[in-house]
Amino acid sequence: MEQELKSRVAVVGGGPAGCFCAANLQEKCEVTVFDKKPPLLTLLPTGGGRCNISYAEYDFKELAKNYPRGEKFLYSVFSRFGGAETLEFFKDIGVDTYIQEDMRIFPVSNSAKDVRKKLLAYLNQTKFLKETVLRIEKAGAGFKVVTDFCCHHFDKIVMAVGGHSGYELAQKFGHHIIEPRPALAGLKTKEDFSSLSGVSLCGVLFTHKGISGPAVYKISSLRAREDFPYKISFDFIGQVDFQAVLNSNPHKSIRNLLSDYVPKSFAEFILVRSGVNPDEKSHRINGKTRDNILSILQNFEVTALGTVPDGEVVTSGGVDLKEINPKTMESKLVSGLYFCGEVMDIDGFCGGFNLQNCWSTASIAALAIAGV
Ligand SMILES: Cc1cc2nc3c(=O)[nH]c(=O)nc-3n(C[C@H](O)[C@H](O)[C@H](O)COP(=O)(O)OP(=O)(O)OC[C@H]3O[C@@H](n4cnc5c(N)ncnc54)[C@H](O)[C@@H]3O)c2cc1C
Repeated sequence: MEQELKSRVAVVGGGPAGCFCAANLQEKCEVTVFDKKPPLLTLLPTGGGRCNISYAEYDFKELAKNYPRGEKFLYSVFSRFGGAETLEFFKDIGVDTYIQEDMRIFPVSNSAKDVRKKLLAYLNQTKFLKETVLRIEKAGAGFKVVTDFCCHHFDKIVMAVGGHSGYELAQKFGHHIIEPRPALAGLKTKEDFSSLSGVSLCGVLFTHKGISGPAVYKISSLRAREDFPYKISFDFIGQVDFQAVLNSNPHKSIRNLLSDYVPKSFAEFILVRSGVNPDEKSHRINGKTRDNILSILQNFEVTALGTVPDGEVVTSGGVDLKEINPKTMESKLVSGLYFCGEVMDIDGFCGGFNLQNCWSTASIAALAIAGV
């Protein structure tokens, strides 16, 4: 009996998106993954080596709210392949998961290495080629993939090159690239916080270069499309009746009193900055100075000059979503060309959202290519 010819699919990029797409395609198609590096290398540092696979939010609209770029586009993607489907897939390949208190989901092994190993073991019907893709061209009904090694022909292409390189491959097909910028990064500041280095409050960590920590990563993500410099204002104390606190502790030093609310070194920092002796007793602080201290604490202004590559830096920007069909991940400009993962103009907050984007968009592309 004649065997049905399987369609040949090239996945360009063997990161989480590319490999997940291959994993969902390999039974139906003849899949080749191209990567200039060993596959799934980018998975290893995720979640500090623990791999924050996903986030425990199963309502697709709520989940999509965690993406400053891509929210609406992801509605139909997540409604078809969301967190629950992702966890089921991983369970099937031997990766059991657990939900942390903050709703982030990790493998029980707490090991990105283990997730990589299991995913690669599952990809036993996929061919991996360690080649750099230089060009992709239309060739008849299919595509020609030119690498630094040779030339290959495929029926379909999945572009999963991530957020660091490879945009020119999409541009050659007429796709527009929204200017890539770092998000989820630390920020370099105009102010010198080196004396506070290591001090952390309200999710802000002071560093030698500026500020970092979860609150800062989120700001760098929300404001990723803004030009530097920009000002940020932090409220480090909330709505405290400062006058009453000072009046009821008249003999306590202002430093010790503030240390009930913020780290002692930070209290000293802002007192010196406002020209107040940290050893001064509370009752000796006049009304104007009290107002000044409170206003600094409630409205702590920082000028961000640029990003610093720490944290789980992702790329904001990439292939314009207007040119991709969210139901199939197929290019609206070139039939047979698909996208998944960070190469697209989609990025989420810290918490497993960026990998979830990879798993979900990769799976939707695979379903469309396999004709399911
Ligand atoms: C330190 C760190 C920690 C992170 N932790 C988390 C986390 O815990 N949870 C989470 O959700 N997200 C996390 N992220 C983000 C997440 O890792 C990325 O969003 C994700 O890796 C994107 O996957 P991708 O497959 O789209 O792209 P990538 O992972 O960038 O993979 C793209 C691949 O394509 C290859 N490639 C590119 N161009 C070519 C070419 N021309 N030819 C051949 N190969 C090419 C590259 O070598 C690469 O292997 C973290 C990011 C960082 C930096």
